[in-house]
Amino acid sequence: MHKKTLSDIDISGKKVLIRIDFNVPLDEHQNITDNTRIKAALPTINYLLENNAAIILMSHLGRPKGELKSTFSLEPVAKRLKEIIGKKVYFVHDCIGDEVKQAAKNLKPGEILLLENTRFHPEEKKNDPEFAKELASIADVFVNDAFGTAHRAHASNVGVAEYLPSVVGFLIEKEIEFLDKALLNPEKPYTAILGGVKVSDKIDLIEQLLEKADSILVGGAMMYTFLRAQGYSTGKSLVEEDKIPAALEIMEKAKEKGVNLYLPEDTVVAKEIKEGAEFHSVPVDAIPNDMIGLDIGILTVRKYTEIIKPSKTVIWNGPMGMFEIGSFSHGTKGIARAVAACSGITIIGGGDSAAAIEKFGFADKVSHISTGGGASLEYLSGKKLPGISVIPDK
Ligand code: ADP
Ligand code: MG
Repeated sequence: MHKKTLSDIDISGKKVLIRIDFNVPLDEHQNITDNTRIKAALPTINYLLENNAAIILMSHLGRPKGELKSTFSLEPVAKRLKEIIGKKVYFVHDCIGDEVKQAAKNLKPGEILLLENTRFHPEEKKNDPEFAKELASIADVFVNDAFGTAHRAHASNVGVAEYLPSVVGFLIEKEIEFLDKALLNPEKPYTAILGGVKVSDKIDLIEQLLEKADSILVGGAMMYTFLRAQGYSTGKSLVEEDKIPAALEIMEKAKEKGVNLYLPEDTVVAKEIKEGAEFHSVPVDAIPNDMIGLDIGILTVRKYTEIIKPSKTVIWNGPMGMFEIGSFSHGTKGIARAVAACSGITIIGGGDSAAAIEKFGFADKVSHISTGGGASLEYLSGKKLPGISVIPDK
């Protein structure tokens, strides 16, 4: 990686402020329902512990809209981190102010302090320089390791870097290393699997893929916009009418550039979106007027599997159907199985795609699951992420 990383600085005996992604999912009683993001932060935390640093962690959680809302407190995360790491984790009820300064001052090498949700202050999202300076004032070094927010320029990930020697942490380093395998010089054949809700969310990604990929396999709700562009009727399926011309243009560009853009041959349809609803598979040229398309069909799964398996690089963004409902999960599951069976480099980017691969039990059979939905989408679309750009080059 061309940015300065943790291995490039001396941290022994220093107070190290880390922007981490502890934006964990909570249930209605503020219980943490998934530890993935906490575990993803451990390589950086453990390295700092082993190298005699005093560790100050900061993060946002949810969308408290610049106000102190106890339901968005990071205190449960301090408890969970302590259980996972087997070490005391100090917690303070704000991220700036006297209590924070005192706690940071008292913190010794090998100890961990977690600050309260940075988004309790409206200055965080505004990237207010005074607020950033306050955050920076308690430390000697800054480490950005919050990949999930790297596409946002906020005070705790971009602003602070103006005031302290700054590097990226091991999570960001790993994310970029894998995403670059797809973005820079992908080993060929390079196959992209694209699904999810909207074409409009992913146009920049598709443009980028048209430059690099050998095959693009389309599924998810976005397939119906493409099918309409080809003149098929799509019944009550989700279609972005205003993106039909864009879909046509994408198909033409693919032809020009020699990229194989595949649309499904068959689709699962149902009259209603609910568990247990009656459903069946139809060819894409025979979608009934009163039905909704909710998944790719078995013929499409077979066809896509043949393309995925021998690929040397696979990137997957967006589920193939409404996989949250059992009846419409088979397409996504089938594609997850194919990706798991591929011996090339396989990368999952996108929050819901990551949830799908976990749900179907193939998470340990892929090369990399990105922890940042929006951030990985933007990075793979060829955009610069402000949280990384702000870190000096090596
Ligand atoms: P990711 O988070 O992986 O980038 P998206 O957010 O773009 O993916 O899309 C995920 C959502 O797309 C899922 O919640 C899924 O239910 C929905 N989806 C997939 N196919 C369909 C469909 N045919 N109709 C409606 N929603 C769909
Ligand atoms: Mg999503």
